[in-house]
Amino acid sequence: MRAIAVSSAHSAPSPARRSRKRVPIARAPHVAEGGEMSTRNFDLIVLGVGMAAVNAANKCASAGWSVAVVDELPYGGTCALRGCDPKKMLRRGAEIIDAARLMHGKGIEPNDIAINWPDLVAFTQTFTDKMPGRIENGLESNGVTTLHGKARFVGEDTVEIDGEGQFQANHFLIATGAKPRTIDVPGSEHLTDSTEFMRLDALPERILFIGGGFISFEFGHIAARAGSEVCMIDRGERPLKGFDADLVERLVARGEEVGVQLRRRTSLKSIKKDGTDFLVTVETGSETKDLRADLVVQGGPRRGN
Ligand SMILES: Cc1cc2nc3c(=O)[nH]c(=O)nc-3n(C[C@H](O)[C@H](O)[C@H](O)COP(=O)(O)OP(=O)(O)OC[C@H]3O[C@@H](n4cnc5c(N)ncnc54)[C@H](O)[C@@H]3O)c2cc1C
Repeated sequence: MRAIAVSSAHSAPSPARRSRKRVPIARAPHVAEGGEMSTRNFDLIVLGVGMAAVNAANKCASAGWSVAVVDELPYGGTCALRGCDPKKMLRRGAEIIDAARLMHGKGIEPNDIAINWPDLVAFTQTFTDKMPGRIENGLESNGVTTLHGKARFVGEDTVEIDGEGQFQANHFLIATGAKPRTIDVPGSEHLTDSTEFMRLDALPERILFIGGGFISFEFGHIAARAGSEVCMIDRGERPLKGFDADLVERLVARGEEVGVQLRRRTSLKSIKKDGTDFLVTVETGSETKDLRADLVVQGGPRRGN
């Protein structure tokens, strides 16, 4: 999981924290006296409702704190809705294709086996569509106040949430996750991100992935098993830098066998629309080359929200 920024607006522990007792009634937010636009107070407000947030919010609520969570998107965050979980469902399809092909001549005839992309994507949505409601119900049944909107700090201990008003807390947990980093080149508006990739109606014939990180590799290998021709560019000599070098080279070699081509020391210069194609200019050392693709995916680094 990503590192989580935790900020504590007040150092004094709340009564609930001191007693460590489960205090169901105290979970209701404290409402400041006075005006209708009163600020509501909590022991803890968690910004973002991904997996990091859900665990922390539930644990603190179970310990008796008054807790609120807020997200500007449907609850569930990246992992459940736009990352690990739907990705693993797509990957399962690719694994089945791969396993069948590897057994060719060993008792399995894999000739007609194929990924039906729209059906596979629809399958992922049978999971992701239910998650926000499930997560919200789970939090509410644990006494957590659930809020919706974009949150921003307007004071040391106060956040304003679009459409909900202002809220104060003794503690804030910033669990706002990450999104794809902007690549500053001409034509970058043509880039598709991993979220859009997982919702594509159809997989195009030629896909170019920018960046040799785990998102490019996983989606590249899935797309290749679904029949696309895949190319990946990476600025460095070695992709997947955080992973074991020997294993990475084996994966790269396996990629070549199944139609995933890797261009090392290659950086993106520009993307242009050319009819239905994208004309992608890349640079390897001092050599410039134009690649054609039907889809260009930003599979590289992400930055914190
Ligand atoms: C395609 C993909 C595949 C992945 N696969 C894996 C995998 O297989 N295994 C693995 O371990 N990790 C994987 N990851 C990484 C993993 O998804 C993240 O590390 C994890 O989801 C981070 O969880 P989080 O709770 O910190 O943040 P997130 O889940 O990103 O949640 C943050 C939430 O904060 C909300 N938010 C942001 N700003 C605000 C604001 N100002 N106000 C209100 N709400 C806000 C966002 O809308 C979001 O819902 C993958 C990531 C991607 C993109």
